[in-house]
Amino acid sequence: MNDVPLAPALEVRGLTKIYKVKGRRPDKVALQNIDLEVKRGSFFGLLGPNGAGKSTLINIIAGLVNKTSGQVKICGYDIEKEMRAARSAVGVVPQELNLDAFFTPREVMEFQAGLYGVPKSRRRTDEILTAMGLDDKADVYARTLSGGMRRRLLVAKAMVHNPQVLFLDEPTAGVDIELRQQLWAYVKALNDAGTTVILTTHYLEEAEQLCDTIAIINHGEVVACEPTASLLGKLDMKNVCLILDRDITAVPENLKKFNATLSHGRRLSINYRPSETQMARILNAVAEEGFDIIDLTTEEPDLEDAFLKMTSGR
Ligand code: ADP
Ligand code: MG
Repeated sequence: MNDVPLAPALEVRGLTKIYKVKGRRPDKVALQNIDLEVKRGSFFGLLGPNGAGKSTLINIIAGLVNKTSGQVKICGYDIEKEMRAARSAVGVVPQELNLDAFFTPREVMEFQAGLYGVPKSRRRTDEILTAMGLDDKADVYARTLSGGMRRRLLVAKAMVHNPQVLFLDEPTAGVDIELRQQLWAYVKALNDAGTTVILTTHYLEEAEQLCDTIAIINHGEVVACEPTASLLGKLDMKNVCLILDRDITAVPENLKKFNATLSHGRRLSINYRPSETQMARILNAVAEEGFDIIDLTTEEPDLEDAFLKMTSGR
């Protein structure tokens, strides 16, 4: 495809969306002047609590919702001024299961391919349906498909024109674990082959494993956007859990300053900030109290912690 070389997969500048609902005041500000950039080839996660504005952003990009102000470019193409080129560069899997009940998956795929002007010789209906585990359902009415199958059909439909940027809005909601893994394997393969993937998901573990970069959005604002590892590193939180050589009834005096908590008689759990407290100081304090350490485990923060930290208190 003749795309603009080296332009980012997605560029959002000063994007604002205000929903005006008849007879309802005040207006709903769903996106407040957001900036966002996604590199080509990225596997990008867009996370945020319900109502944060994730679907609004994706729907603006898909041309389903009109923006109030600001600019959006896909692979260098402005979604307004170069609408056709921008549209053909993206595939969108919407959050809503909006399928026509009286079409079969094969018909859905062929119709979509027609819409995008994909010539018959270049259609990959069977290949995509097979990858989505829908080959044996290719010719049944969509209304007989389960929720998980419909979700996978929407993913298949979004890939018909081989888009360079694939948006997935909560693609695994309602999809069982095995098929979720199958879906990710396929999306991952697409990403490895160069497709940029931008997804929202409620499953933070999924985002942590898959995404190289994560943006957190809250109340229509981007509150964080960085490589997954550095987002987690910034949390500056760790936990160490020590098993002592004997039972005690209270936290020893010089461990109180570390806010240690005692459980199971001899298990001490301590949350600390690596930037302020060195692990050696904790271990020395334990030794000074005359204990031997039988076992020790440490825990790193995960995305769930990052998410809570960045979206709480507002
Ligand atoms: P998310 O996908 O992050 O859960 P949405 O983008 O769906 O969030 O919604 C963002 C905010 O905009 C929410 O407060 C939601 O109620 C509101 N909203 C979404 N769509 C509409 C609409 N068509 N009319 C009015 N308000 C809407
Ligand atoms: Mg949503």
